[in-house]
Amino acid sequence: MSEGLVTAAYIVAAILFIFSLAGLSQHATSLRGNFLGISGMALALLATVAGLGADTGTIARIVAAMAIGGMIGVYLAKKVEMTGMPELVAMLHSFVGLAAVLVGYNSFLYHEANVDAVMVNIHLTEVFLGIFIGAITFTGSIVAFGKLRGIFSSKPLILRQRHKLNVLALLLSLLLLCVFIKPEMVTLPAGISMMGPQLLALLVMTLIALAFGWHLVASIGGADMPVVISMLNSYSGWAAAAAGFMLNNDLLIVTGALVGSSGAILSYIMCKAMNRSFISVIAGGFGSDGSASSTAEETGEHREVSAEETAELLKNSTSVIITPGYGMAVAQAQYPVADMTKRLRERGVKVRFGIHPVAGRLPGHMNVLLAEAKVPYDIVLELDEINDDFTDTDTVLVIGANDTVNPAAQEDPHSPIAGMPVLEVWKAQNVIVFKRSMSTGYAGVQNPLFFKENTQMLFGDAKASVEAILKYL
Ligand code: NDP
Repeated sequence: MSEGLVTAAYIVAAILFIFSLAGLSQHATSLRGNFLGISGMALALLATVAGLGADTGTIARIVAAMAIGGMIGVYLAKKVEMTGMPELVAMLHSFVGLAAVLVGYNSFLYHEANVDAVMVNIHLTEVFLGIFIGAITFTGSIVAFGKLRGIFSSKPLILRQRHKLNVLALLLSLLLLCVFIKPEMVTLPAGISMMGPQLLALLVMTLIALAFGWHLVASIGGADMPVVISMLNSYSGWAAAAAGFMLNNDLLIVTGALVGSSGAILSYIMCKAMNRSFISVIAGGFGSDGSASSTAEETGEHREVSAEETAELLKNSTSVIITPGYGMAVAQAQYPVADMTKRLRERGVKVRFGIHPVAGRLPGHMNVLLAEAKVPYDIVLELDEINDDFTDTDTVLVIGANDTVNPAAQEDPHSPIAGMPVLEVWKAQNVIVFKRSMSTGYAGVQNPLFFKENTQMLFGDAKASVEAILKYL
């Protein structure tokens, strides 16, 4: 395939990616968006392989690598539960980071000699930045994976002088960049001079970036993790773009930039949703200053309700709002919830859903589940659209949500979730909370909602509880 044709295929693939992103921004068009993305990627892969010409050895190696990678991808995608998706995404981000690091070292060690000094400097800067971003993405994503899996504590790691440590890491990396570009600046002691100042600078910077990425994410508290996930998404895009520069691949640059900038926009949206500052997210460790009071102890008496009583309450309500959370995903309760919604609507009850932007463990997690269960899009509303309506609502069903309906965010300035906008469910006449115990949500703080006069607890697995209610409707 000629170079011109490959470039044309890359341009078409890039356009397909842009349309894919546009499609993914809305429920109704998301399937089409996915299809366009898959088509763009298939075209890009075909053009890349065809562009290699008659180099059959390389083509065979690439096809073999793609077959192995594809098989692992299909196996993981089939095996993973919906609740395990966030961890899978974090793990995949770490692969992008690692790939950028490896491409960087390969590009430094085996690049063709260039006589133009300016081009050499540009190449070295690309290598350095690619490895730097890749290493941060790699360890940051591993910590995110561990926090989501529960391997690491979701509490923030508060090191003393941590902001100074971050600044020091950046300054040292900058110094190492100068050494990397102008190695004649330093003379190494005899023992390590074999390695050469450039490789040494690169290795030391890689270690710093690995530690920096680890610390950046470890110092973020549980409830602020959504912003970190989207931030890492963005970093992985920039890491891919950096790899594109090193490999001289225009499509990788464009694709990386698309992922990087859309991830940054998502992070900004998440920051706004959580009332956090965008700059302090990038700086890391914005979640807590270590003085937060995060008590998991119960602070009052709670009242229990049965499925039959809940069904009676629903039958006598004219308006109902359902606020789902991570527990609905764990229980896979979206299907009975959709059935219950249908039956209540047939009885003339006005049913709507209130979706918090960080409910679940992935941006859009609840929307995906409800779409899967065919809940009509027009009754699924965002926090901003529904928060004023709780006062006029007869019954709210909190299905597996906790942090996202916690009034402590407004009432306790020392809470780790202080300032985060929450669904003000307690303003409704009746609130029924579906969960299995009195344990806390992801942020590890007790929820005063459970002890309010108008709240009743329906204990048990959310799916079993909704199915039990359905029998009485
Ligand atoms: P939470 O994680 O705060 O709470 C979920 C609740 O569901 C728990 O209290 C649990 O209580 C209950 N639950 C678990 N399993 C079941 C089950 N089978 N049946 C019934 N209930 C169950 O959920 P929210 O959605 O309200 O909040 C999301 C949290 O996750 C926020 O803190 C957010 O910041 C964080 N987060 C969000 C991400 C995102 O992108 N959306 C990413 C990373 C973190 P019990 O054990 O008693 O049943």
